Amino acid sequence: MTKKTVIALGVLAVMAFATTASAYVLLSPRRTWSSPPTYIVDNRGLTGVNDGNGGETRTRNAIVSSAAWNGAGAGTVINAVVGSVSGFSLGDGTPMLNFRDPTGQCNGNCLAATFTGFFSGGTIFDADIVTNNSHSWTSMGEDPGGSGCNGEFYVEGVMVHEAGHGLGIGHTNVSGATMFPSVSSCNNGPASTASDDDAAINDLYGGGGGGIPANSCQGRCGQQAPAGCWCDFACQFFGDCCPNKFQQCG
Ligand SMILES: [Zn+2]
Repeated sequence: MTKKTVIALGVLAVMAFATTASAYVLLSPRRTWSSPPTYIVDNRGLTGVNDGNGGETRTRNAIVSSAAWNGAGAGTVINAVVGSVSGFSLGDGTPMLNFRDPTGQCNGNCLAATFTGFFSGGTIFDADIVTNNSHSWTSMGEDPGGSGCNGEFYVEGVMVHEAGHGLGIGHTNVSGATMFPSVSSCNNGPASTASDDDAAINDLYGGGGGGIPANSCQGRCGQQAPAGCWCDFACQFFGDCCPNKFQQCG
């Protein structure tokens, strides 16, 4: 029996302003795909997205966009195709993005959720995504650049966030990052990853062959990392710590 862990993107009820320099958080225990997964994006489309095909093409393109995970510096880390999710089943080894929620586990303020509990020995083998379609949804095809959006959530940004969970990343407290745990309506910012998000993907998938990313404190505690950030005690006062300083060095 595999323990199921759900990590959801919620509705942002109160605007929060981050005041501390902080960093991405990887899912614990650390886990990665052994090769880039190919997500099946629900070809039924998402209810309420009026862009010609229910946002399915926009979602697929956002997930594989070079503005997101595949452009973060670690090469192609995720693929996606539009297809049938009729065989949707948690943990079956086929990652699917379902525009409904047959599990019934994403309710209320939950916009969408990723089931991150399917891994073995540090290797992810499934990470399905479900959607709460009781919210009002839109896409950049329906409401380009926020124009015309009224209380709706952009499917592209939300699904790039969920895909981040699927790749092994948790929530950050860096405001404006894709992996921030909540989003306000009419904000498609999460469709483009921020430097904090990119650092996470490079930590997990960068430096092919097990190399240590230039901004990692792994094996560099008390020193400056090649990327210029620091892994020493003082960095928290100067605000120039590497993203994983506290995980690696305390
Ligand atoms: Zn989330």
